[in-house]
Amino acid sequence: AQEGILRRQAARESAARTYARALPIVPVRARGLTIEGADGRRYLDCLSGAGTLALGHNHPVVLEAIRKVLDSGAPLHVLDLATPVKDAFTTELFRTLPPGLADRARVQFCGPAGTDAVEAAFKLVRAATGRTGMLAFTGAYHGMTAGALEASGGAGDVRVARLPYPQDYRCPFGVGGAQGAELAARWTESVLDDAKSGVPSPAGMILEPVQGEGGVIPAPDGWLRRMRAITAARSIPLIADEVQTGVGRTGRFWAVEHSGVVPDVMVLSKAIGGSLPLAVVVYRDDLDVWQPGAHAGTFRGNQLAMAAGTATLAYVRENGLAERAATLGARMIAHLRRLTGQFACVGDVRGRGLMIGIEMVNPEADLPAGATGPYPPAPSIATAVQRECLRRGLIVELGGRHAGVVRLLPPLTLTDEQAAAVLDRLTDAIASVAA
Ligand code: PMP
Repeated sequence: AQEGILRRQAARESAARTYARALPIVPVRARGLTIEGADGRRYLDCLSGAGTLALGHNHPVVLEAIRKVLDSGAPLHVLDLATPVKDAFTTELFRTLPPGLADRARVQFCGPAGTDAVEAAFKLVRAATGRTGMLAFTGAYHGMTAGALEASGGAGDVRVARLPYPQDYRCPFGVGGAQGAELAARWTESVLDDAKSGVPSPAGMILEPVQGEGGVIPAPDGWLRRMRAITAARSIPLIADEVQTGVGRTGRFWAVEHSGVVPDVMVLSKAIGGSLPLAVVVYRDDLDVWQPGAHAGTFRGNQLAMAAGTATLAYVRENGLAERAATLGARMIAHLRRLTGQFACVGDVRGRGLMIGIEMVNPEADLPAGATGPYPPAPSIATAVQRECLRRGLIVELGGRHAGVVRLLPPLTLTDEQAAAVLDRLTDAIASVAA
């Protein structure tokens, strides 16, 4: 059955980029960290629906919440009418919001995907400011619809000025650290203040507190505070895209909390729906210039997703899973960092909480005279590591500006034993590729 299903998928579906489609597995059952394929093989799933499954597959509290709605006879779809299910979701969501936003928050249901909430955020800040352009960053990923796509470096339809996102490894200024972040901030300031060649009419700045698809690059807290100050001084709303970083993933409930930055707008999706499609934009009340009918969309009221999301948010909060992600993630990252000394093809290990990236490089490439590194990214080595992981029963994702980064997004419920198994299999896979 598995071979036939894979063959038909290859023949019927577009070959456009998408998560892990190329992996030769046909999942038929899943629980927690584990996926079982149609061929009976079991895999540890560190892709987690691209970070959607904060509690892993089919967590009992999520299933229970979904069943409860199904068994209650509640309507599954009533557009955006008020329902007890939605009321419970917004109550729980507002309880989690960062201080400074929580008490003045408005939510707009978008959906069903993260990219829809990004579009809504752009539309909102344009309406609120009367300006049109957007500020985004190198390596950003915000989605595949026209505005979000442009902000992600693709061919969309919003005027986007691209500013440098700081990074230690491959720092565009060649210095890294706090100094590199400060230079990136100054670049942004100078572009914004350049009357002739600067950014016309910026309505908002969108950033990921940790870039995910861009290669797992955590923004330094100091740089985030600089972006907050720079945007505040110019009355430019700051939009935090926490689609991937939210719900405890990075070690705080929302990743902006590490820096104490309070954004004007937050874009949320993935884990907030407890594995079902749900996306919202949350913003400070004074930005709420929208009149009734200003934003619509048929699938904004998914009751099952809201119920699954409420259960997930509450479970993460009540069980301290953000703190757990912080400690376990730090341990895993420290463990993986040792690989950089062990294998020349492991260029960098980085991340925050349980959002972890391992950048594979080609150590045989010639470096410019006098340079000691970093070596060029090696997408083919990353792909080989992904394949070797799969052979060892471990699913990992690839990402990064050059697709050279192996990414781990395990569920926040990961146990110490599971973490050890993931690290063993990954290390073994890297060793086999390096050999
Ligand atoms: N923003 C970020 C930070 C993301 O990681 C993603 C998806 N990977 C999106 C937006 C888009 O979400 P979706 O794929 O649900 O449209």
